Amino acid sequence: MTTIEHWIGGGTTRAGSTRTSPVWNPATGERQAEVLLAEPADVDVAVTAAAAAFESWSQASLTKRTNVLFAFRELIARHARDLAEVIADEHGKVVSDALGEVQRGLEVVEFACGIPNLLKGDYSDQVSTGVDVFSFREPLGVVAGITPFNFPVMVPMWMHPVAIACGNAFVLKPSERDPSASMLVAKLWAEAGLPDGVFNVVHGDKAAVDALLDHPDVAAVSFVGSTPIAKYIHGRAGANGKRVQALGGAKNHAVVLPDADVDFASDHLVAAAMGSAGERCMAVSAAVAVGAGADELVEAVAAKAAAVRVGPGRDESSEMGPVITAAARDRILGYIDTGEKQGATLAVDGRGLTVPGHEDGFFVGPTVLDRVTPQMDVYRDEIFGPVLSVVRATEVDEAIALINANPYGNGTAIFTSSGEAARRFQRGVKVGMIGINVPIPVPMAYYSFGGWKDSLFGQSHIHGPEGVAFYTRAKVVTSRWPRVEHPIGASYHFPTTS
Ligand code: NAD
Repeated sequence: MTTIEHWIGGGTTRAGSTRTSPVWNPATGERQAEVLLAEPADVDVAVTAAAAAFESWSQASLTKRTNVLFAFRELIARHARDLAEVIADEHGKVVSDALGEVQRGLEVVEFACGIPNLLKGDYSDQVSTGVDVFSFREPLGVVAGITPFNFPVMVPMWMHPVAIACGNAFVLKPSERDPSASMLVAKLWAEAGLPDGVFNVVHGDKAAVDALLDHPDVAAVSFVGSTPIAKYIHGRAGANGKRVQALGGAKNHAVVLPDADVDFASDHLVAAAMGSAGERCMAVSAAVAVGAGADELVEAVAAKAAAVRVGPGRDESSEMGPVITAAARDRILGYIDTGEKQGATLAVDGRGLTVPGHEDGFFVGPTVLDRVTPQMDVYRDEIFGPVLSVVRATEVDEAIALINANPYGNGTAIFTSSGEAARRFQRGVKVGMIGINVPIPVPMAYYSFGGWKDSLFGQSHIHGPEGVAFYTRAKVVTSRWPRVEHPIGASYHFPTTS
């Protein structure tokens, strides 16, 4: 049995860890490895290594930093397939989808390659006679990232390329369910010439996370995961005086107006609900069918959902893989049972699916529940599986009100051919990321990603300009170089310009 170790100070180590957690192959149901779980003392070793590395990395020139980033960019591009296969084996998603994840992560690295431009400050000449003012930004120190299982490459890459480009040292605590991709990423950072200790990976569970949240030398914490844990991270790290951005869960609605093209909308709804087995924070899990066309839409969605090819992630013909664990599968199946009991109509039933040759895999078939109401558990909770709930509404304002009554505010989309309705929607919804005829509106790397309400705790969205601001703090310098032969006397009143 392979044991996945930590990456601290430029190499693998067990540190003092003895506890382990199983790593499954979701397609076969086999336990394929075990990962070490760090104790607080192990976290301290990683933070100490990072703090030592920060001293010189934070002083490295922008040229040196960008050289490393460009080399890292090339290595990620070259190893995209290797990363995608590691993701497929531990997460379960299909390789083509995993390649998409790597690509979206790579785009953040490319954004970070522009760090000299992003860190430019302001300069005001002669604000008073002989006085200039300028600003610049400095890195924070050691920053930590705590990440979920569903994007083991992309979500950490929302964080570490930007943090490292800004001159910080980084400690990543990836999900213990699919830890191997982070080890390959660590090797590629080292190969790119990043000095030892600037990027570290500590595997673990709550004990490791709490140690990071409490460590006095961790200046900031970026978290992505479920809402209850995001809220907890924000509270505990914040109480310890750290900067925190904590992105939480979601219940993303896609509204389909009667003037939308049904074929186009149903294609995109099914892909956005079932892609990656629904294990995406931007997955569409609630479709709001507006007006008279609802039956036709549900019929089209059901036919397409039933036709999704479910199979192992490594099989080129699979469109959707298994879910992450047996427990996740059972939880999702439980929600489908409850939905049926609470009165939803099963337009497509994904229970009881077996994939030939992979009978022990953690598969759930695509499921479509129609005539779902806001009171039902399937509507209220984030299921995080291939289950689409269809709610019906009579007009666009009712759909907007439904979205706004939901505690989450991560993403939402509208399908329509009306510019007026789309504009009313984009202005009316209390949601951070909005798609117009785009089902999964993940912003490009040079914008910032983040939701509203219970989908985000803290002020800062992730990557893009807000990422640079999060990982740095500003200094403003007011400077005067008087000519010694013409000394200016000091005054005792509060300084004003002259
Ligand atoms: P999770 O909250 O269970 O785990 C996230 C991280 O927190 C992991 O590293 C885990 O080890 C750690 N953790 C878990 N329980 C903890 C505890 N009690 N104390 C301290 N740390 C703990 O999330 P997950 O199941 O890995 O991922 C799925 C969730 O992530 C979904 O809710 C999804 O919507 C969300 N997500 C959100 C975004 C976003 O951008 N908003 C992106 C991806 C995933």
